[in-house]
This record gives sequence, C-alpha cells and structure tokens, in this order.
Amino acid sequence: MRIGTPRELYTGESRVAMTPDSALQLQKLGYECVVEAGAGKAAGFTDDAYRSAGVAVVEDAAALYARADVVAKVRPPEASEVEHLRPGQTLLSFFYPAQNNDLLEQAKGRGANVIAMDMVPRISRAQKMDALSSMANIAGYRAVIEAGNNFGRFFTGQVTAAGKVPPAKVLVIGAGVAGLAAIGTATSLGAITYAFDVRPEVAEQIESMGAEFVYLDFKDQQEDGAATGGYAAPSSPEFREKQLEKFRELAPQIDIVITTALIPGRDAPKLWLADMVAMMKPGSVIVDLAAERGGNCDLTIADQKVVSANGVIVIGYTDFPSRMAAQASMLYSTNIRHMMTDLTPAKDGKIVHNMEDDVIRGATVAFESEITFPPPPPKVR
Ligand code: NAD
Repeated sequence: MRIGTPRELYTGESRVAMTPDSALQLQKLGYECVVEAGAGKAAGFTDDAYRSAGVAVVEDAAALYARADVVAKVRPPEASEVEHLRPGQTLLSFFYPAQNNDLLEQAKGRGANVIAMDMVPRISRAQKMDALSSMANIAGYRAVIEAGNNFGRFFTGQVTAAGKVPPAKVLVIGAGVAGLAAIGTATSLGAITYAFDVRPEVAEQIESMGAEFVYLDFKDQQEDGAATGGYAAPSSPEFREKQLEKFRELAPQIDIVITTALIPGRDAPKLWLADMVAMMKPGSVIVDLAAERGGNCDLTIADQKVVSANGVIVIGYTDFPSRMAAQASMLYSTNIRHMMTDLTPAKDGKIVHNMEDDVIRGATVAFESEITFPPPPPKVR
C-alpha cells in the first residue's frame, strides 16, 4: 500500500505529517511513500530530500489522493480535501470530531476510515502516538521563548560590572503537558518560576522541576481540583475566589505569566483578569496558550499580540507548534509512524484496522461508512 502526505492548506500552517526520516521508517513497514510537491517546504524539507529518501513526489493534491491508500496530514481536512477521499481510504490527521460533526459526516459519506490523532487514548501504551502531548510540549517551550522575545530583560539574575540584574519571575497557570514544558524551559533559563494547578497531585512534579507550587489558603485544596482521568473539573466558587485572591497578590511582582488552563469540553476558564493585568509592571508579558478556547486572560485576542493600557504585552498566538515547524513535524510524523506500526502488525505494507485494539478503536472516528465516535472507554490504562 501507499502512504501519502499532501501540502497543508490551512493558512500559516507550516508543519508536515511525513518527513524524509519518517518516510524511511514507513518504508521499513512495507509501504511506498508519496508526497505532494512542496509539502515539506515550510518545515525545511525539500522535494529533493524526500526523493533521496525514496519518496515519490507528485504535482498536486488530486494526484496525491488518487495514489495514496493512506493519507497522513496535520490539520483536519478542508472541504476540497474531503472531496478527494474515497471508500476504503484511510485518513490520519487531527480531526477534533466533537467540534467537527459536519466534517465527520462528510468523511463518513465518502466511505473513508478516519483516525483522529487527537483521539488517541491517553494511556501509557499509546504515549508514542500521543500527538496532543508532543505538540503541547512544543507549545509550552515556545511560549517561554516567545515571552523572552517580547520581554526586555534577562530571565536569569546577574551581577555584572554594569549593575545587578534581578531574575525574572515567571508564573505558569495550569501544569499539564504544556505547562510542565513551560516550567522546565523557564527554570532552565534561570527564572524564578511559580506554578499553579487545580490538581494538587501535580505539586510534586512542579517542585521536581525546580518551580514553586502556589498553595492557596483553602482548606479543601486537596479535594476541590478533583478530576477524572487526570483532567481538571470546574472549581467551586469559593475555590475560585481564593485562587483569584492569590493571583492578585502575585500580579505586581510577576514579570511573565504563561497560562495553559483547560477543562475538557468547556471554554477556557478566565483566571488572569483585567485588574490583575493592570497591577503588573509595564513591559511584563502574558502568553495565553488557551487563546484558541477563549483564553485564560481577559485581554487575550486569539492570534494577536496586544498591549494593555499599562504596557503589558498579551500574546494569544494559537500556532506555537507551527512556529517550530521542523521540530513539530519531526515529532508529529513520529507519532504517525508509531500509529502505522500498530496498524501494520506483519510489517507487510498492509493495514489491519483492528477495532479490538483500544488505541486504534479510540482514535477511529469513522470506519466502514459508520461513525465510530465517541468510542467506548478504553479497557486498559
Ligand atoms: P489540559 O490541556 O486539559 O489542561 C491543562 C492544565 O490546566 C491541566 O493540568 C489542568 O488541571 C489545568 N487547569 C484547569 N483548570 C485550571 C484552573 N482553574 N487553574 C489552574 N489550572 C487549571 O491538560 P493536558 O496537558 O492535556 O493534561 C491533562 C492530564 O493528562 C494530565 O494529568 C497529564 O499528566 C495527563 N496525560 C497523560 C498521558 C498518558 O499517556 N498517560 C499523556 C498526556 C497527558
């Protein structure tokens, strides 16, 4: 069978789902590989690099979809791409089926089998295919780099002949995958880093990375953040008040705030309010990684950088992984390759779409002209 990767159509998307290196690995599984001309250009992979890795390069998307039995891409398909799908063809991409019901219906209508990379169950065995985590890791890192790029001072403290420089103080709100990556990056640059999460069990992880967990003066902090499957639940009003009170206390001394707080299936909770921004020093930076879901900061505008009346820079970019397209493509294409490894048990270039397998079942949202989303809960953790 043949695996193909088209050029991404979404404006500003620079990632690609197959790299020359991942193509070599896919060929070891028995597949032929094909890409659309220019598919890897924005991520730094030339057509010649693909050819050198044994990949066929075709002129346009129509030719790509016609030749590929399996299509691997990054973004959910656009309408023109869905038109290319055919019965029995397999599509692997981010898909967000809960938000893209019409798209799912259309893909099902074309008879394609769809594997949503965002639906890979978050169980230990599936970590190597967990593209949400690999992209969140990049987003957390890049958020700190972006903050540094907009912050007029060092992260680390210095004593120099020209004067003493205090270390920057960074607050990370939400310590999931992106938040922990941001903590690691900020502490490694020498900042004094504080972090808060409603899930108290992450305190140990935060502290092991050299940051300080922000405790609240709240008797039930251990219970209130209680969540299912490692995710957060909405906080009680009393808890939220204590949280906001603590943030107000911290705001005047914090130089950089990185917010990553999300609750599954809801808009991002508003946690860094306008009055907290007003209390920050001019030149401070807020990077809101929850911008796509409405933002954690009152002032965030998705995909934009705005400056508050008191000179605080608020960054709401939603394309951090794409801003590190080479790295993101390398990791995403590896996630895809691992998924293909599980789909190809005999390494003979033939897909065995085993719906008894928890991971494959969980990620499959359309199969044999049926919608298979939402999946049953996984049996193994
Ligand atoms: P996420 O993107 O859903 O949320 C980010 C963080 O925001 C979470 O840590 C959440 O607790 C926090 N948050 C929500 N509301 C908040 C509030 N009001 N104030 C402060 N913080 C708030 O999270 P994620 O990065 O997708 O990770 C979710 C969980 O899944 C974590 O426990 C993570 O360790 C786990 N995980 C497990 C695996 C695996 O394979 N086992 C893989 C990835 C993630």
